[in-house]
This record gives sequence, C-alpha cells and structure tokens, in this order.
Amino acid sequence: MSASIKTVTTVAELREQMAAWRANGQSVCLVPTMGALHEGHLSLVKLAGKTGERTVVSIFVNPAQFAPHEDFDSYPREREKDMEKLAALDVDLVFAPARDEVYPENFSTHVTVEGLSEGLCGASRPHFFGGVATVVAKLLNQCRPDVAIFGEKDYQQLLVIRRMTRDLDMDVEILGGPIVRGADGLAMSSRNAYLTSDEREKAPLLYKTLLQAAKAQSEGGQVRAVLKPARSTLKQGGLDVDYLEICNAETLAPIEGGVSEPARVFGAVMLGKTRLIDNVAVP
Ligand code: AMP
Repeated sequence: MSASIKTVTTVAELREQMAAWRANGQSVCLVPTMGALHEGHLSLVKLAGKTGERTVVSIFVNPAQFAPHEDFDSYPREREKDMEKLAALDVDLVFAPARDEVYPENFSTHVTVEGLSEGLCGASRPHFFGGVATVVAKLLNQCRPDVAIFGEKDYQQLLVIRRMTRDLDMDVEILGGPIVRGADGLAMSSRNAYLTSDEREKAPLLYKTLLQAAKAQSEGGQVRAVLKPARSTLKQGGLDVDYLEICNAETLAPIEGGVSEPARVFGAVMLGKTRLIDNVAVP
C-alpha cells in the first residue's frame, strides 16, 4: 500500500510507462473514470487487480459527453480524495490528462456507434454515446491496455464500447463489472451527491421498481402490462420517468410482447435536477 500513486498527465508519459511494462511481458488493465470515485468505481479497480498484472485508472471529466445544458461545470471533482481511495488499492498508475491533452485545437474526429446508441439514454441524451465512444477510443489508443473494465451500471455504454472495439478491430478485451449498490439498493453514482436528503430517501424506489418489474416479467405475460403499473409507482413516488423499458440484453431492442430471450429492465428518472439510471436482469 502506498500513499502516492504515480500520476501522469500526458499521453507521452503514459506510453512510456506502458512500453516499459510491455517490455517486461506484463498485462495491463485500464479502468476509465470521470473521478469522484465511489465503491462502484473501486470494485472495477479491484476486478482489474485480479485480471491483469498492472492497473491503470484514468480520471477525466469528458466535456464531449455533456450537452451544453448539462452538468459539466458542476460535475464533482475530488482529485485528492480520489487519490486517497486509490492509494488503498493495488493501482500502478493514474492517467489524469488536462482537457487540451485530450482535445487539442482543431480536434475534428468523432466516433458514432449506430443502433445500440440510439435508444434508452441515447434517445434523451443524443450527444452522449458519441462523446463516450470518442473519448474511450482515444483512451484505448493512448494506453493500449490488454483489458478495459466498465460497469454494468451503465449497461448500454458497456455494449456500445464492446461493439466499437469489435467494429474498429481494437485489440482489447472489454470486461463488465457488476453494479455496486448502497444498503437501500440505490446504485452508486457520482451524481448521487446532487440529491437533497428528501430526494435521497425517494431514490431507492427506482431499483425497487425495476426489481419488481423484472420479477413480474419473469412470471410471464406482456411487457406492457408489467411496465404500466411500474411507471405509476415511480411517478407516485416522486420520480419523473424518462424511460422504462424491457429490452433484449444483447441488442437492446425494446421487447413489446412476451419475453422469451435474455432481457433486462432499464430505467431512467429525474429526481429534481438529478438524472438517475439503473438496470436489472429479468431472471
Ligand atoms: P463514471 O466515472 O461515472 O464515468 O464511471 C466510470 C465507470 O464506473 C463506468 O464504467 C461506470 O459504469 C462504472 N460505475 C459507475 N457506477 C457504478 C456502480 N454503482 N457499480 C459498478 N460500476 C459503476
């Protein structure tokens, strides 16, 4: 355990370190984050420690995945606390580039993953997956890890990135880590810090409702009949539904009749000015 983890801010330094590890035949696992780290992020870092010989954590609040009206400026930035949390784990390098290092002047290339990016979060945040795919493509090219780990909390994001790496022949394995929740079931998220105490009390209803819907769906019947009462429950609990859908777990195609394939329930709600997302498998 070390109090100070080596931190680099330039791609040149990152590549120098990567080259040294590669020369020693060591495998590297990358965990991309936007910082304000919580147990969800740390679970991915722990998974990285079990997966590869070296662990790199990147911290970069990516402006390209925020629309102008969204929370880029107010997004929590807690570098000192993040470094303390990472110091307690087995992390070999933190890559924390400045905005100009990632997006130099005249930056003009964008990655679009069609289809998978268009429903669910992509419908209400049309800029989002393009911004994520572009920055993750860059990170993977900059670092060239053997494995990169993403959380199932952002399940659609995980599938979009997996598809991108396959389509663009990127030589990296994409691993998903399970969702980490608080004792009351609320999925951990850096944005939970925005919730007032009243909103924080209401927030676990999202997971509870998704679980109930997944259970009801597993007992058979039509998706519509499962989702209608679930939407009412959320609304009555003060959660403003952005979407609530049951989708194919691999293609994310919305399911409308009965469920006969691997499926998940996906939900996004606004609670005051905070957007919460979550998903659970239909057993
Ligand atoms: P973010 O900093 O929000 O971009 O998240 C960085 C990574 O952590 C992404 O792969 C997320 O899916 C993952 N992550 C965020 N919250 C959780 C959670 N509660 N459980 C598991 N992974 C998470």
